[in-house]
Amino acid sequence: MAKASEINNGGQSGNGEPYFCKECKRNHTKGKIYKDHLKFARFEIDKNEIEEKSESNEKELESEVEEIFEDLEEDEDDIIELNEMEEEELDSDSNEVIINDANMCVEAIKKLPGVGEATLKKLIKAGFSSLESIAYTPPKIIQNESGLGDKTTAKLVKASMAQLKIGFKSAEDVWEYRKNISRITTGSQELDDLFGGGIETGCVVEFFGEFRTGKTQIAHQLCVNVQLPYEDGGLNGNALYIDTEGTFRPERIVQMSEGLDLDYKKILKNIIFGRAYNSDHQILLIKEAANLIKEKNIKLIIVDSLIGHFRSEYIGRGTLATRQQTINAHLHDLLRLTDIFPELCVIVTNQVQSKPDVFYGNPTVATGGNIVAHGSTIRVYLRKGKGEQRVAKMIDAPHLPEGEAVFSITENGITD
Ligand code: ADP
Ligand code: MG
Repeated sequence: MAKASEINNGGQSGNGEPYFCKECKRNHTKGKIYKDHLKFARFEIDKNEIEEKSESNEKELESEVEEIFEDLEEDEDDIIELNEMEEEELDSDSNEVIINDANMCVEAIKKLPGVGEATLKKLIKAGFSSLESIAYTPPKIIQNESGLGDKTTAKLVKASMAQLKIGFKSAEDVWEYRKNISRITTGSQELDDLFGGGIETGCVVEFFGEFRTGKTQIAHQLCVNVQLPYEDGGLNGNALYIDTEGTFRPERIVQMSEGLDLDYKKILKNIIFGRAYNSDHQILLIKEAANLIKEKNIKLIIVDSLIGHFRSEYIGRGTLATRQQTINAHLHDLLRLTDIFPELCVIVTNQVQSKPDVFYGNPTVATGGNIVAHGSTIRVYLRKGKGEQRVAKMIDAPHLPEGEAVFSITENGITD
């Protein structure tokens, strides 16, 4: 979002305690959101820079990927500088920036009742540049960020929701919505079958399991597969990957693309990547995502992993309630996105803890506890099988039978 000042996150996460931010190398206040953290990057490779070599060996591949990362870091600096410049221009009170910037989304906001130039300017300056972002953000946050009054904000939210047809729906509307639901292939026929023909859009899917059970690999594979045309099991769309653990590997995307005979440069370019350095940052990236989905044709959002930061930041008994509340709000942000965009699939991963004191039944539970279990629409438990094999078990899905599927993780990605 475009606002440089700290934003109180609607009281969702704040217990006001300072923590050391590894990214900015300075102290931050917990519960406040910092603009410096907003760095989305696209994995773009300049065609002229890298000669295409049909028989490139792994070493060459690695160095290519390193180059991508170096370029990316430079790009990120540019992006931030650009944002700061834009902001200065805005601060200097010129309406031109906004008016020149007007795109389709902004046009839609302009048409809301009571939105004049001043209101529009405040909204855009605060990062609300689409109907979706207004409808989807709690009014209190819009108010805090934009400085608009509560009545104006309430009116704007209501009008945006009406425009987007959010709220009570008839069963017929729900049926209409479900007609827009599509599916992404996982690459494994068995796994697709478990989901009733691929992972469906319009809901949040949680993969949970122990370390190395394939959660991150599935996330990578879906970022490639979502870009396939519909007839090949994709959605002809792009992916947004929020990495909280630093385990995103472009090299794997390259391997998986090549496994499907796809141009990996194109595939990388269509993955928008955000590294979340702490839970506040993670929450902010998802809020920002509401603005990106339409503009960048995003059909898949990955949060890998959902809980990790929350678990390490909220330590001790006294913090459990706040932690669960914050995770709950974050998960609802994700659910709301799928409510607005039927052709969006949200995948979250969740690492489970072993519970050595449980001797029967399932010895593992998802770390988020009950909150995550109830918020997600579809939950799948992963465990290791023989060698490269993994077993997926459908735990909780409103309309899918319980069952298991065996799939493999190979160099080329997920297969049967
Ligand atoms: P997690 O569930 O912890 O996210 P991952 O999705 O990272 O686990 O899965 C890690 C596993 O994926 C490894 O143990 C390995 O079996 C498999 N894997 C990762 N990279 C490759 C590769 N290049 N070729 C084959 N298998 C791989
Ligand atoms: Mg992982």
